Amino acid sequence: MTDTVEIPERSGTAFRLARGQTLTVIDPRGEQVADLLAFNAEDLDEAISSGRTLDYAETIYLTTGHALYSNRSRVMLRIVEDSVGRHDFLLTPCSYDTFHHFYPTLPPHRGCFGNLAAALERYGIAPDRIPTAFNCFMNVPVDGTTGQLKVLPPISKAGDHIRFVAEMDLVIGLTACSAPDSNGGTFKPIHYRVD
Ligand SMILES: [Zn+2]
Repeated sequence: MTDTVEIPERSGTAFRLARGQTLTVIDPRGEQVADLLAFNAEDLDEAISSGRTLDYAETIYLTTGHALYSNRSRVMLRIVEDSVGRHDFLLTPCSYDTFHHFYPTLPPHRGCFGNLAAALERYGIAPDRIPTAFNCFMNVPVDGTTGQLKVLPPISKAGDHIRFVAEMDLVIGLTACSAPDSNGGTFKPIHYRVD
């Protein structure tokens, strides 16, 4: 069991997660998103896949009991606890370009994409290999008729968490998201624990 680690606001990290270990992602203050990536530690061409996962789950709202699949249709992570029940797996990590698109008047920020790219560099993962992230606590409701989506503040409250168990040896990327709309307009840290 490890201590809880803090990811400071608007930053990110990367670490190994061995098969059978659990990863708990905690929103310590509430309304804060954490982008999660997973790569097969033995073969970095195998990565977490939104398309595979949503196809097999037959829903865009993933929670306890759902598996997160790789591009090779193998289970990478399984959600074993979830105190929130609302996460996003549609949208890519926020980036310099995202800020230019949505927030042209704000100072630009490299966002989750830049933070993930920097953290994953030491594992040999280049930026172009970064796929759609599983966005813990991100609240993206979709109108079932029109397909229009919205990015609303997370419904997570202080201390809420989601826990995953690893089904293979993984390299994990994890952030405290940097985009204003995703996080209710303020930037907070994220906590995580590996057990
Ligand atoms: Zn972000």
